[in-house]
Amino acid sequence: LVTFNGVQKTYDGEILVVKDLNLEIKRGEFVTMLGPSGSGKTTSLMMLAGFEVPTHGEILLDGRSLRNVPPHQRDIGMVFQNYALFPHMTVAENVAFPLSVRGVSKSEQTTRVRKALDMVKLGAMENRRPGQMSGGQQQRVALARALVFEPQLVLMDEPLGALDKQLREHMQLEIKHIHESLGITIVYVTHDQGEALTMSDRIAVFNDGIIQQLDSPTGLYECPRNSFVAHFIGENN
Ligand code: ATP
Repeated sequence: LVTFNGVQKTYDGEILVVKDLNLEIKRGEFVTMLGPSGSGKTTSLMMLAGFEVPTHGEILLDGRSLRNVPPHQRDIGMVFQNYALFPHMTVAENVAFPLSVRGVSKSEQTTRVRKALDMVKLGAMENRRPGQMSGGQQQRVALARALVFEPQLVLMDEPLGALDKQLREHMQLEIKHIHESLGITIVYVTHDQGEALTMSDRIAVFNDGIIQQLDSPTGLYECPRNSFVAHFIGENN
């Protein structure tokens, strides 16, 4: 579904933060970009979402080059760590936003918003505002907003980073459940190796702008390709 082909990214014409990214993500896969802070994970995700432009190389979605395709035309949902909800809008209005941008009729919006909110178990909260909700609930709203236009691909950048451990583990299961029941493709960014190992079909371990190893959780755990991967996967386990 997604191909990164020799992708590089330089900021301010100087530092190469993504060095030579080659990655194929299959339809329906859950792929995690895992690595320490500053290793280029978010930059890679932002290029796929369309908020950053590769300095070199090409990103393809469904065989089509994404160069010159603006973010809202990419059929990609996004969830950020800080939720990025509109504080002055209700939950229902937040979730409906991607539909109104796409010109979906009001009645269709109501149906789809209800379905998305039921999926994240927030059916009863559609008239609240984000400020009246817990962090976990706000992240569910963000998740509903990413799913509401039924994109084939959803990108998640440290979506559970602001939540406490117990809630994080609970939400991991819910995201996995949504992934499996909808059959969508998810590209997930985290620096938490435990989270990556539990949730992913495959993990791309990033360091210094380069994928050090791309493998299944078992493959990484049992056969780390180099000492960086061995240390990073072994930490905190
Ligand atoms: P984190 O987990 O901390 O978000 P990351 O692996 O996602 O880290 P990136 O956010 O992709 O890493 O950042 C990679 C490098 O690029 C960092 O050194 C960062 O300082 C730099 N960088 C990121 N965004 C910009 C920008 N807009 N302008 C200049 N440099 C940037």
